[in-house]
Amino acid sequence: MSAPARPEPVDRAAAAGSAAIPAAPFLPMTRPSIDEETIAGVAEVLRSGWITSGPKVKEFEARLSEYCGGRPVRAFNSGTCTMEIALRIAGVGPGHEVITTPLSWVATSNVVLAVGARPVFVDIDPVTRNIDLDRVEGAITPATHAIIPVDLAGLPVDRDRLHALARKHRLRVIEDAAQSFGSTWRGRRIGAIGDFVSFSFHPNKNITTVEGGCLVMNDEAEAKLAEQYRLQGVVRSGFDGMEVEVVGGKFNLTDVAARVGLGQLPRLDEFNLRRRELARVYFELLDAPAIRALGLQLPPADFTQSNWHMFQVVLPEERLTIRRGDVMANLHAVGIGTGVHYPAIHLFGVYRRLGW
Ligand SMILES: *Cc1c(COP(=O)(O)O)cnc(C)c1O
Repeated sequence: MSAPARPEPVDRAAAAGSAAIPAAPFLPMTRPSIDEETIAGVAEVLRSGWITSGPKVKEFEARLSEYCGGRPVRAFNSGTCTMEIALRIAGVGPGHEVITTPLSWVATSNVVLAVGARPVFVDIDPVTRNIDLDRVEGAITPATHAIIPVDLAGLPVDRDRLHALARKHRLRVIEDAAQSFGSTWRGRRIGAIGDFVSFSFHPNKNITTVEGGCLVMNDEAEAKLAEQYRLQGVVRSGFDGMEVEVVGGKFNLTDVAARVGLGQLPRLDEFNLRRRELARVYFELLDAPAIRALGLQLPPADFTQSNWHMFQVVLPEERLTIRRGDVMANLHAVGIGTGVHYPAIHLFGVYRRLGW
């Protein structure tokens, strides 16, 4: 059987088959929800005369710290830079190895290359789609300094096993929790436990600051270092003192962005509850025997710990007569947005050229 041609874009009102049924609006893969009160708050910040890092960032960090069980938290202009900074605080650099997963947004391992260290990819557990902790020990060498696990789609990696492993081998852990803000592990919030925990507030994530992220740390000494790496290494004292101790970058969050975050954070639980409801609907509709028979693999049905950042299905491509791109085009034609974000990282050109 030959594969059908790529479908033409269709008129959805016509496709619905009846003039009486209005066409449903296009359902994007993700869409931020910013309320009017937050928009008004942003306007207030814009009028205040102080629009970059200032009192709103401090307030946002205080709220984030409360959310993370009182641990020190600093906000940044991306999730990516928080991981790079955590690696720098942990002293990870040239000659060091960092164990991570090849199934993630490429930022997860790019930051390892950025500090001059080498990512070591450990395969995933095909059920959870997270790093297979059974295989981590076999990848540890004398050069291993840290591990960066990822809670893919919001499903948390087993924190008990992860941190027991890290303690045993004296490894630092930088949890890439970009997708798991609001997820829990055995009743405790991701962020409230562990070593370094990194969150992203990109518009695709469960709350947003437009662009932004935050890093949860262990103590004030780490937080002070993070502040230095965040802004050119600068340390100020008194009215006129200024010193530069480390080579920092330009990673500070603006007050405008922080005000968006302050409006989003109180709504996190509401957002995640809604995501959970939608995931239940997907299970009801996709768990039909006819669909199971096709070989479609659904994600683990975790309704206690996951924040349902995404709902990922694995297509049985070897049993399909069309390719993944055709499935996506067909869904698009009926008004359903999907996305591919995580080709295996070690197969990207730059990683191949570096020897993977
Ligand atoms: C979004 C994301 C990041 C990076 O976050 P940014 O805020 O876009 O820098 C890192 N890791 C994972 C798994 C992500 O999903």
